[in-house]
Amino acid sequence: MPPTRNRAAVPEQLGFAGMPERLFVCTPSKLGAFLDCPRRYRYSYVDRPTPPKGPPWAHNSLGASVHTALKNWFTLPPERREPGALPTLLKSTWVREGYRDVELERAAYRKALDWLETYVANLDPEEEPLGVERVVAAKTSVLALNGRADRIDARMGESGPEAVIVDYKTGRSGLDADDARGSQALALYAYAAQRVFRRPCHRVELHHLPTGTVAAHEHTDESLARQVRRAEETAQDIMAAEKAVAAGADPDESFPVNPGSLCGWCDFRKVCPAGSGVAAKEPWTAVEHLAG
Ligand code: SF4
Repeated sequence: MPPTRNRAAVPEQLGFAGMPERLFVCTPSKLGAFLDCPRRYRYSYVDRPTPPKGPPWAHNSLGASVHTALKNWFTLPPERREPGALPTLLKSTWVREGYRDVELERAAYRKALDWLETYVANLDPEEEPLGVERVVAAKTSVLALNGRADRIDARMGESGPEAVIVDYKTGRSGLDADDARGSQALALYAYAAQRVFRRPCHRVELHHLPTGTVAAHEHTDESLARQVRRAEETAQDIMAAEKAVAAGADPDESFPVNPGSLCGWCDFRKVCPAGSGVAAKEPWTAVEHLAG
């Protein structure tokens, strides 16, 4: 056989022009970043090196600490899942960054411990979730989707075993069923979980620890498919913007700014022309009320 070196031709020559595009690899938060603000997406995922970010946020530290404590709760054997274990769990995962001072940090720690004590009082220690901080993944004709769900519960539904997506929230404001219904991230986790666990997954829940409330929504196959379609449309918009930049378009036009209330909280406020005029939030603004 003759060497085949010169047969490596461009895709069009090989008749591959009509081949599907490469799948867009993404997480729900990557898609959400573009929906919130295309420029923020560009700073986070396109520009290299990544532009300098602002300082760490105390509310992110608090959220991460509580999430990890709950994750570690489920690594304990059932007989050790009792409230007395929580101080050790929380202390060992506590993230200190972003607080104004030690006083505010201590107040946040005490609140977090209260929230956790109330929360675990309503958990059955014998119950093992299907997954805790579990990565679920699925492909569509456009997306290679993956994401880490806080918890995926195994529950008995009307027609048999089901998976339920649980997302912990530690922000100040409470949440309602509309938040659960409208969350693209939760819907995409449910879509992926159905495939990973090979069981129905339609119910998504937001567990708001500060108020001890649960906001839930029951998706249908149609509403999940709708959310997946929207995610695909967002992915197509992102790929079109990236292609335009690669072809020489102005990156600022392809990834426009979306100035608004998010700018004060944006990690890239200082480098963004729209954000630099916005009053900055202090890194601890969102947790200050915990000291009251
Ligand atoms: S400061 Fe505002 S407009 Fe600029 S990237 Fe951040 S969110 Fe977008």
